[in-house]
Amino acid sequence: MMGRPYGSGRVACESCISIDVRRWHREGRLRPGLFFSWSWTCNGEPFGDIKVRTEADAVVLMYRARSYGGAEWKSVEQRVPITWTACHLGGHRPWFICSVYSNGRYCRRRVALLYIAGELFACRRCYGLAYASQHEALHHRGVGKAQKIRMRLGGSPNMREAFPDKPKGMHWRTYDRLRRMHDVAEGRSAVDLMRLVERLERRFARLTGADSANDFDNSGGEESDHDY
Ligand SMILES: [Zn+2]
Repeated sequence: MMGRPYGSGRVACESCISIDVRRWHREGRLRPGLFFSWSWTCNGEPFGDIKVRTEADAVVLMYRARSYGGAEWKSVEQRVPITWTACHLGGHRPWFICSVYSNGRYCRRRVALLYIAGELFACRRCYGLAYASQHEALHHRGVGKAQKIRMRLGGSPNMREAFPDKPKGMHWRTYDRLRRMHDVAEGRSAVDLMRLVERLERRFARLTGADSANDFDNSGGEESDHDY
């Protein structure tokens, strides 16, 4: 079996961890000075949790995270501002303000849902960007490793060329080992790329409303993110 960069279920769940400001508002969790835990399950198993501290018009999310492909966990504290708009029928409704720096600027989009994107909670759009770039990075890392092995064997880094022959003087055992490492790296990058395409397709379907099934969304209602 090819190398798998993550457990097969992990990515699917991780990509769906979201927090919903409307739900927290409904449950009275946005009053300043509160402290509570929030957790998710995946396929019936506990999957992750965060601590939340509330301030006047902001929540501070506290959790441990690591970036995709990263080995080290670190403590993250992310302050997410909250803004309020008047409803047509009276009252006010809250919005998270996405505080992530992406694409060369602070996002500042007003949204109901934030998703964990690598180390930070981000709006759907920033999450999409982070997800794509992380997966491209992983894909390229796999290809890069395979290319290095080809060059070490005196071949060209071009992945479309045949795998180089065994150089004179190299043990067959070494050659076979390098070939296996090459295949794993190449396979890993192919698997990543396939997953990326699959997930982007699924996300696109979700954005266009073609597929509204989302087992892990705990918002309990239709998503209605609002962009300025
Ligand atoms: Zn954003």
